[in-house]
Amino acid sequence: MSISAYAGEFTISPIPLEMSMNYCSHKCAVCFANLNQPGRTLDVKATINQIKNCNKGKGLTSYLLREKYPILLSNRVDPFAKTNYRQTLSFIELFNANENKIVFQTRGGDGIDEALSLLDYKTHWYVSISQLNDDLRKKLEPGAPTIQSRFELIEKLLSKGHSVSVGINPLVEEWLPVADFQEMVDRLLDMGVKGYWLELIHLNAKQVGNMSEKEKLAVGSSLIKEAAKRTPNYSYIDWAREYIQDSGGEVFSINQPNASSFFDDYHKKFKTIKTNQDFINHCFKKYPNGGEIKWHEYYEFMKEPFYEQEFSEADGFVYRIARNVYKKLENTPFKTLKGVLEAYWDNIDIPKSLFNNDLFSVLSYGSDKKPGTYRCKEDSKIIYWFNAEPSDKLRHFIE
Ligand code: SF4
Repeated sequence: MSISAYAGEFTISPIPLEMSMNYCSHKCAVCFANLNQPGRTLDVKATINQIKNCNKGKGLTSYLLREKYPILLSNRVDPFAKTNYRQTLSFIELFNANENKIVFQTRGGDGIDEALSLLDYKTHWYVSISQLNDDLRKKLEPGAPTIQSRFELIEKLLSKGHSVSVGINPLVEEWLPVADFQEMVDRLLDMGVKGYWLELIHLNAKQVGNMSEKEKLAVGSSLIKEAAKRTPNYSYIDWAREYIQDSGGEVFSINQPNASSFFDDYHKKFKTIKTNQDFINHCFKKYPNGGEIKWHEYYEFMKEPFYEQEFSEADGFVYRIARNVYKKLENTPFKTLKGVLEAYWDNIDIPKSLFNNDLFSVLSYGSDKKPGTYRCKEDSKIIYWFNAEPSDKLRHFIE
């Protein structure tokens, strides 16, 4: 484990680098990272070398490090878990020396005061809370700090001038029923937390297979079944989004069908890359009544100075995200991030395709049994329709 380009959330996260460390001792029962790779450890020497040698390195990670892009710590571990915090503190100093800022994702833990004293800038902290009931937290997140201590952490971070958003990820009605959800969000809004990242629970067969009996019991068989569904029920998350928005907060969920300023703080504070949410915000401004979107407009909006440079890591941005689709594609391996975005754009089976968002339909002709897809005359790429007011998933059929 070391530093890598954040391929898994390319077009989702504005932070282009992430660092993974050791197995996370917070031990959340549904942690995808612990369930996927239970024995992972940080390769300390290799990671130090990545930072120290980034000026010589030819890869994308070296490029992003030397261009002073920020790093997410972490999507796959808690940097303040007992298994990680000592190394986190050492790496903060190395990142400071290399002028890479850090964005933290945490449930709290050890070493946070020391970390704060090492930072000479105000950063963004994403603090996760999925329950209000601490007895439930003990069963589901046995190694993680109490819920009360997370509120105290948020208060401290805000009082020191840092920004905080809260991840209710996963959001599960059984864990955070309506009354608890409202109490928690009202309290956080009063404290000054504006941004909330909401996602549903998801577990694949391998992850369920890696759960201990105790973890399975804590989560419960009906929820495990629900978490494995390909077409999950979005009704609670839709309600939760509306509740937060009506209360003056901002929400982000992958593929949410609305504009959101959730990432504005990231863009203000850090050297970031554009996200699909930024593009959606752009579409709402430019096409309030809907409109046709071509590849050229999307790419011109999304592109960054390095998207046409060749990096060997680019291929993994498609291969690792959609292996089955990748195998059928021509023109592989992908050499540039522009090529990766083109693949996302033109292959609606890739989960990163805009088609997965209800705001975008593929502009098609024929009938819904045998549609043909309209393609742009200039570049032969799919044309999307931006549904400014999506109801159900629309397909635009033109007879
Ligand atoms: S805190 Fe995050 S990384 Fe750690 S076990 Fe929980 S979900 Fe996994």
